[in-house]
Amino acid sequence: MGRSRASLHLALFPFPLQGHITPMMQLASLLHSRGFSITIVHAHFNAPDPRNHPHFRFESFADGIDPDLVAGMGIMDQVYTIIAHCEQPLVSLMKRIQSGDEFVDCIVSDSLYSGGRVAGELGLPWVVLRTNSPTSFMLFGSFVLLHQLGYLPVKDPEAMIKELPPFRVKDLPIVEDNQTERFFKTMTEVVDSTLKSSAILMNSFDKLEQPALDWIRSRTQAPVYLLGPLCATYSAANPGTMFQQDRSCLTWLDRHAHGSVIYISIGSVATMSPAELVELAQGLGDCQHPFLWVIRPGSVKSEESVRFLDRFADETKDRGCMVKWAPQTEVLAHPAVGVFMSHCGWNSTLESICAGKPMLCWPAFGDQKVNTRMICHVWGNGMEMGEKLESEKVKNSVRELIMGEKEGKKIREKARLLQELALDSLKVGGSSHTAVNELKAHISSLNSPNCESN
Ligand code: UDP
Repeated sequence: MGRSRASLHLALFPFPLQGHITPMMQLASLLHSRGFSITIVHAHFNAPDPRNHPHFRFESFADGIDPDLVAGMGIMDQVYTIIAHCEQPLVSLMKRIQSGDEFVDCIVSDSLYSGGRVAGELGLPWVVLRTNSPTSFMLFGSFVLLHQLGYLPVKDPEAMIKELPPFRVKDLPIVEDNQTERFFKTMTEVVDSTLKSSAILMNSFDKLEQPALDWIRSRTQAPVYLLGPLCATYSAANPGTMFQQDRSCLTWLDRHAHGSVIYISIGSVATMSPAELVELAQGLGDCQHPFLWVIRPGSVKSEESVRFLDRFADETKDRGCMVKWAPQTEVLAHPAVGVFMSHCGWNSTLESICAGKPMLCWPAFGDQKVNTRMICHVWGNGMEMGEKLESEKVKNSVRELIMGEKEGKKIREKARLLQELALDSLKVGGSSHTAVNELKAHISSLNSPNCESN
């Protein structure tokens, strides 16, 4: 009790998937820059590289996860497997840490972990980081109501949810697999437990998602802090990427005119069918714009597709650059990039907003569909590809977004305005900057047995 020290010591638990590791490591840097001591407590599976973060302490636990097995699973099976393998070793490791001199004052966990359970066993306050948007959180938290209202399980994907405009049933953050009820139950539990934490941290910024924030704040006693966009608080190139970045594409971009290149990436999990691959390649071929295309290993499964891509790369080498993994934030910030064709994961969406780039949205599953709806129908900084990827649509959309004088111009303008709003929130006195100060005061005031307010 009452062991005091110069700075508060936080233990951060990143959930070991790319879209979760990145914002947690960005948050860690932000909190460190505001005076907290940081320990990253992580699984061996998809472990972040301590060499990229010399200011943090790292503690890891063996999880027994077989990476090859997990690589062949759908996203929710990956999530269930990680939870099943990680939660107990995480508790054991934290108990060991707490019995030593480097005890922590507060836990900051990804919301997919049962941080409340860990914190409860250790008698520590517990703060949650949500790595997707407040709006997605609201929709996950509405699953029970949507069942009661008859929208779920899905019968009519086109139906407008009049209680939750502007969403249609097909925009809901659902992952279709053979265990849909388990998915609904899991996400409902994640929302319920997050609402019971000591504070909720959101990677978003003021003025972007007010209805969702009102929804969240009316359901929790915990303060909700909008700290984002976290990607723009982070200056180093690599916040903890699981893949090797190919930085040669930055030099390639240097050779192209401002706003002329289309950048294509579907993130760290989504995949593409052979037919979609051919349509996209044909659309890129036809639109005549230079393109930078990330083909993540495993995102294209068939051998024939791999051979097709080799031929395509050869035929388009004057105009195209294909890499396995790009330094995405730097790519998006590059003046040559005119459009981002994206699966609309939340990190990618925020990165595009911060770079002021218009988006061509092609969501695959889950919260990507929510983000797409927000981008195309609320914020106006992007255009929807539609569910079926067709070469003609790719060609026309890219041309419109790069140089269109009507819809394209409006979207480009919205993207620039949104960028301004996002970056303003991070300036001294801006809402996200101020929220970090408030969070610091809140954590200091929490009733930790180890914590004396400093
Ligand atoms: N990313 C990257 N290089 C790539 C593709 C993606 O660094 O070639 C990063 C991207 O910047 C983002 C993350 O991977 O931070 C993907 O997260 P997101 O939430 O967009 O999607 P997910 O991978 O979770 O589906």
